[in-house]
Amino acid sequence: MRLRPDDLSHSGIGMTSQRTRERLIQRLYEEGLSSAPVLEVIRRTPRHLFVDEALAHRAYEDTALPIGHNQTISQPYMVGRMTELLLGGDRLDKVLEIGTGSGYQTAVLAQLVERVFSVERIQALQERAKERLLELNLRNVVFRWGDGWEGWPALAPYNGIMVTAAASDVPSALLDQLAPGGRLVIPVGSGAEQQLLLIVREPDGGFRRHALETVRFVPLLQGSLF
Ligand code: SAH
Repeated sequence: MRLRPDDLSHSGIGMTSQRTRERLIQRLYEEGLSSAPVLEVIRRTPRHLFVDEALAHRAYEDTALPIGHNQTISQPYMVGRMTELLLGGDRLDKVLEIGTGSGYQTAVLAQLVERVFSVERIQALQERAKERLLELNLRNVVFRWGDGWEGWPALAPYNGIMVTAAASDVPSALLDQLAPGGRLVIPVGSGAEQQLLLIVREPDGGFRRHALETVRFVPLLQGSLF
């Protein structure tokens, strides 16, 4: 809701971009994304600004793309799917994101929730993501350089937590930082393919776990930062 129409026009990737974007949205809809607000936000978020110029012409394909440092910008379908799961039809107040990467998923979330807190371990990626969000005038995001296995305890609890890298196990710190009724969306597994989980914290403090589809994410790394 915060992007102005002219934010979309500083594209530099030619006249086909609007049509290409519409095709992407049509495809996401056909693949099963059903939330109109989520599709609308993906439609107007300029994904080509989140990848290197050399890859900008592929930005509206439904595919993950490299962003340097052995990391990838997530596939648009997965961004939409995880966002729908996280929101569950509600507007969330505080959302923690682990794995800022390019900042694309962050930008999508920032237009659908009140505040986003985003943790990334690679400082260079984080700096670039920060610049992009400012460029798009998305100012309800706070960034932290740190280890996502620890979450961001000082600002907990969160109504939603989204992890965009694959964890070998569900980090216990993230469960601790989930508010009652809060939702955690996370790919879990240590192989090339993982399982997408939705974990909901019940009002009585228990956790209900839903196993969803098989996904492919880069790993949520352990250990020291560089
Ligand atoms: N949502 C991002 C996806 C980036 S890929 C996008 O669409 O661009 C996953 C990101 O998680 C990478 O940037 C990687 O550096 C980060 N990451 C991996 N392990 C992490 C950890 N332990 N803490 C924080 N970030 C981590």
